[in-house]
Amino acid sequence: MKKLKVILSLVLSIMMLLSITACGKGNGANPDCKDGHLFVYYYYNEDAGCEKNGTETATCKRANCNATHTREREGTMLPHRYVIVTYKAHTCTQDGVLTHYLCSRCLNLFDQEKNLIEDKNEVIIPASHFPNEAKWEWTAEGHYHPCTKCNEVNDLTPHQAPEGAQATIFSGVYCVDCGYEITPALPHTHQLKFVPETNSTCTEQGVKAHYICTVCNSTFLDATSSSKVYMKDLLKPFGHEWESEYTVIEEASPGKQGTKAKMCKHGCGEYTDLTPYLYEDKDYTDNV
Ligand SMILES: [Zn+2]
Ligand SMILES: [Zn+2]
Ligand SMILES: [Zn+2]
Ligand SMILES: [Zn+2]
Ligand SMILES: [Zn+2]
Ligand SMILES: [Zn+2]
Repeated sequence: MKKLKVILSLVLSIMMLLSITACGKGNGANPDCKDGHLFVYYYYNEDAGCEKNGTETATCKRANCNATHTREREGTMLPHRYVIVTYKAHTCTQDGVLTHYLCSRCLNLFDQEKNLIEDKNEVIIPASHFPNEAKWEWTAEGHYHPCTKCNEVNDLTPHQAPEGAQATIFSGVYCVDCGYEITPALPHTHQLKFVPETNSTCTEQGVKAHYICTVCNSTFLDATSSSKVYMKDLLKPFGHEWESEYTVIEEASPGKQGTKAKMCKHGCGEYTDLTPYLYEDKDYTDNV
């Protein structure tokens, strides 16, 4: 690559030299210039850029001739001035950024191996929510996975009844995805049975004390069958107990945020919500 550049600029210089004689013909104010100007001193134009040579310009030495000639000045090209831009996680509303380098001179972006990034959007991590895939929330209009960081209703999808489903006294019509009751069971006298509270373990969720109708399986908080409640609201959290120290779940690397969490003391392999942490290494961030 470098070799090719040198050859190219050599060819360019030769062409420029040849053009010195050509440019003079017929248009010089000094008659001596008709066969070529006399360019002696070239002054540097201080215009070198990143990996691009600057130029130098000479003015014809002969009297009454103001012709100028500009050519490339070899060896003046400058290296990029790399500034590291470190990883920043996105939030619900703000974009994040991948670790990369910015040249403070030409403003081009480079990846961690200092290769030019053509599309500047490549380093952007677009803002987006953090949906809890294991959990449903719903409104009468539809269901969604709640964001673990904000309360915004996000990606509301209409409820969907099973095909051809119709309410009977034995069952209402429930959304196939989230379990929302689209149509209640046909009117009947609920036959209530008391279900006592149970405790959660690591693998099974306990339930709060409640009543269940042995006809339609609807659940109620009390024996009057006026306090209908969904099973999801009766489930108690799993019985995990968290360690006090963090364990790294995903190692952070120069361009990537890592995550850590507190493991369950019972050895079930579950852990708390992931807490992000950044790669911090002076050697890396100073190596620009
Ligand atoms: Zn001249
Ligand atoms: Zn540059
Ligand atoms: Zn959110
Ligand atoms: Zn639904
Ligand atoms: Zn019932
Ligand atoms: Zn556990």
